[in-house]
Amino acid sequence: MHKPKLDHFMGKDTTTDLLPCANCGGEGLLHQQKNNEGLGCGLFIECSNPLCRMTTPLKFSLMDDVAQLLAEIWNRRTDYE
Ligand SMILES: [Zn+2]
Repeated sequence: MHKPKLDHFMGKDTTTDLLPCANCGGEGLLHQQKNNEGLGCGLFIECSNPLCRMTTPLKFSLMDDVAQLLAEIWNRRTDYE
């Protein structure tokens, strides 16, 4: 089973594994989004399948555990809204 980890991201050590995409079984990837000033970075997880592109809601990285939170949302596979 392919289980990409988040522990390479931002040097953070998290043990949460990303499950395959709930829609297509593809790989979920953590992405970072910046505004025009390069500040206020938001994070989200998006399916790597270009035909799917399911995403979690955008979460801002003010919270230290936002990557962990996103992984939990992704893995829960419900209420993507
Ligand atoms: Zn997918």
